[in-house]
Amino acid sequence: MTVTSLIPEIRQYLERLFPLNRSLTGEANRQTLSILRELIPLSVHEVPSGTPVYDWIVPDEWAIRGAWISDSHGRRLIDWAESNLHVASYSIPVNETMDWSALEPRLQVHPELPDAIPYRTLYYNRDWSFCVTRGQYETIRVADGPFEVVIDSELKPGSMTLGEFVLQGRSSEEILISCYICHPSMANDSLSGVILAAFLARELSRRGDLKYTYRFVFVPETIGAIAYCAFHESEIKKVDIGLVITTVGGPGLFGYKKSFDPTHPINRLVEETFHDAGVGHITYPFDIHGSDERQYSSQGFRVNTITICKDRYYEYPEYHSSLDNLDFVKADAITASLDLYLRLIDKLENRVIYRNRIPCCEVMLSRHDLYPARGGAQRPELGGRSELDLILWLLFLSDGRRSIDDVAHELNVGAKSLRPIADKLLKKGVLELV
Ligand code: ZN
Repeated sequence: MTVTSLIPEIRQYLERLFPLNRSLTGEANRQTLSILRELIPLSVHEVPSGTPVYDWIVPDEWAIRGAWISDSHGRRLIDWAESNLHVASYSIPVNETMDWSALEPRLQVHPELPDAIPYRTLYYNRDWSFCVTRGQYETIRVADGPFEVVIDSELKPGSMTLGEFVLQGRSSEEILISCYICHPSMANDSLSGVILAAFLARELSRRGDLKYTYRFVFVPETIGAIAYCAFHESEIKKVDIGLVITTVGGPGLFGYKKSFDPTHPINRLVEETFHDAGVGHITYPFDIHGSDERQYSSQGFRVNTITICKDRYYEYPEYHSSLDNLDFVKADAITASLDLYLRLIDKLENRVIYRNRIPCCEVMLSRHDLYPARGGAQRPELGGRSELDLILWLLFLSDGRRSIDDVAHELNVGAKSLRPIADKLLKKGVLELV
């Protein structure tokens, strides 16, 4: 099967999931996960409002039924029913009559794109605002006030919804794959990543017989990932490699964000993936800003987390606005990104990894018939690549995490020259296959 055959199905999920008014909490998040359950058997967990998770507290649950601004003739100038971006997420309820001078500071317009409704949030402030296009702002400005301003919303103790799917492989070593379900009607950030993650999970479960165990996490960004880490601390602490999937469906260039340790093999594997696929890309260094790699890479966890993206967050003009829509994001772009993630996972799955069975101090090579009979004759040159050198380096670097390709890369030698030596060490019982 080629991934391009998934395009119609991906398009259908894009269209169904796009209108839902997702946020940190709420019914739309539950609906999103329940739609994704058509693809994969996600388990869903509810974390009660007020639950402390590390330095954070799970917020109250937010619901909104409607919102509008009407002029003095009762004409609706802004109606939330037309775009769920019109009200800043987590706005408190409002029912007031006010004139332009009081309303104006409550209106947010996009700083650069006059036709865009900006996406704004007020998660941890008890406040409210409307987000409008420049044209709508002007219409309200010249309309007859006073204005009727209504936000029919509710903030009360409830819960935050987390989704998870653990796909068991032969090894208990896990790859963490995370995406965020908290953005309302925007297609690249973050819906494209959510859909890609779900299809990736389905493709991997259809394949079966996986080496690694894959932990898929569908959570609200930041607070959801933090809560997930808090409830799965011991599991996440053991994870070495993570993928945060977001902004994968734009029309622009592919890119990837490196993990916090640029020498970690996952970065080279991503670069090889782009190279093998013949796809150009932008490389972004690790940065303290970004998505949930901020949590997974934090001191307590240190998961080397990368992101492959297509029109990365922050970079495209439509970012965090109503123009990040289904004209901007197409199913075929998501599918092209899915193909890269699948290629990357193939590379991970096919890594040959050895472990030195005698990691404490040096192996006594002569005992294993691996040392020249006459000692004292060796005067190794710096960076020497004799068989003895390669034996010592292989034993030094084969830690059960680096693949033979990683070791070859580190030593700047061809993997082909290492394989027969690794075979020999395997037969002698000083290396084992992981
Ligand atoms: Zn965002």
